[in-house]
Amino acid sequence: MKKALIAAVILAIAGGAVALHKSGVLDRSSGPAASTKAGESCGGCEDDPACEESAGKQTDDCGHCEDEPAEPADDCGSCEGEQPAAADACGGCESDPPKPASAAAAQNKDSRMCGEHRVPERECAICQPARLASLQPGQGMKVRLESARHLDTAGIACASPTSGSSSAGTAVLARVRYNQNRLACVTSLVGGVIRSVPAELGQSVREGDVLAEIASREMADAKAEYLNARAQETLKESIWKREKQLAEKKISAEQESLAAEAEYALARNAVAAARQRLLNLGFSDADVRQVNESESATATFLIRAPFDGTIIERDAVIGESVEHGKLLLKLADLSTMWLELSVPQDMLQSVRRDSAVHVAFDALPATELPGTVFWVESAVDDSTLMFKALALLENPNGLLKSGMYARVTVLGDTHGSSTLRIPDQAVQRVDGKSFVFVRLSNDLYEIRCIDAGARKNKTIEISRGLQPDEQVVIAGSFALKSEALKSRLGAGCTDH
Ligand SMILES: [Zn+2]
Repeated sequence: MKKALIAAVILAIAGGAVALHKSGVLDRSSGPAASTKAGESCGGCEDDPACEESAGKQTDDCGHCEDEPAEPADDCGSCEGEQPAAADACGGCESDPPKPASAAAAQNKDSRMCGEHRVPERECAICQPARLASLQPGQGMKVRLESARHLDTAGIACASPTSGSSSAGTAVLARVRYNQNRLACVTSLVGGVIRSVPAELGQSVREGDVLAEIASREMADAKAEYLNARAQETLKESIWKREKQLAEKKISAEQESLAAEAEYALARNAVAAARQRLLNLGFSDADVRQVNESESATATFLIRAPFDGTIIERDAVIGESVEHGKLLLKLADLSTMWLELSVPQDMLQSVRRDSAVHVAFDALPATELPGTVFWVESAVDDSTLMFKALALLENPNGLLKSGMYARVTVLGDTHGSSTLRIPDQAVQRVDGKSFVFVRLSNDLYEIRCIDAGARKNKTIEISRGLQPDEQVVIAGSFALKSEALKSRLGAGCTDH
């Protein structure tokens, strides 16, 4: 900017008073004609007595002209090329009738041109990159390259989007999680010492396989109590049967038979209680039968797999003393996984229970999987302003890992309809939104917000924001993005 101003000073000194007219002709008339009043149409600095002094100075010093509506720099032939920045500040070109101050100010705000890039200032992405974040799909801002040289160095190539059948509706990010219905934390239900851990980390096991063996005094006591109760039950049963026969033969009193029957009932209750204690410790019916048949009150307690799965965590070593409730292993059935979707609120209509989804993974470019939404959160997160949804997904060959990122396309009503596709490298992300560059002329591009959909074969669906006949930058878009965002590193025209 300073350089441009200095250039303006030099030009003004060299040419005397310089008058700029709307026709774009640079008028080098020799002196000022003091005919216009301040606040009226500024016919050029040379017409203003106040500018007599300023004639020969830089136009910035002409306070009279300064707040006039700026003339599009394109029309200002005198400013273009040599001094674009000076043309921006130069109100001398304006010869329109004056407007009321407030209306003129409002119009100024909307129509003021960025002299440096020759686009309306509010549309200049280079000078106002912060506005990009507020754009909606279909809206855009302008990016003018400084010269054709930029075009070559950027290696920019354009093409129209191709049209095809839509595979998808709306795309959201998601993470893979274990299927929480098929995940088990295997704990010890008794205190004791670990004798063996047959289950290795990563090993696939079948339901009922022994995962760990624990020696437990508590277990021995429980088994002994059960066996004692069983023995008591057998004894009391035979006593009751004998007393019953004697009573029937009138050899003994019926009262004794009744007493024996009551004791037999108590013994049966004791067996039931002892059996339940074993079950509470993790025994299956088969385990209890086995204790009964073997009549062995060993201290060994076997921990078995509750379902088919894979050992995904192991925190158990032989000889370790464990407390009741200690986590020994984690077992997961990896044949299916959950997808945790983070869904923006404006997609509330698209994401529903039983919605079909199409899932792609950056880490697995060749893998695309179908899934189904089975749960949608009933509240929106306070911090992210999104809501969660869960989808169930097949996991062929255990390819998916918990924590992986996925791109999930919720198949909506547009599924199967015609859509536009562009190479995925044409899409640039700025402030969390997707943008493409649309060619407007040789050195002028529009950076446009779009709705990016599903990726497929290195192309990406554009559901909103692009027309079939538009020329999209398919190579060199990153260079254009750098150009548009360069003022984040330096000063744009609004900082001048
Ligand atoms: Zn600009």
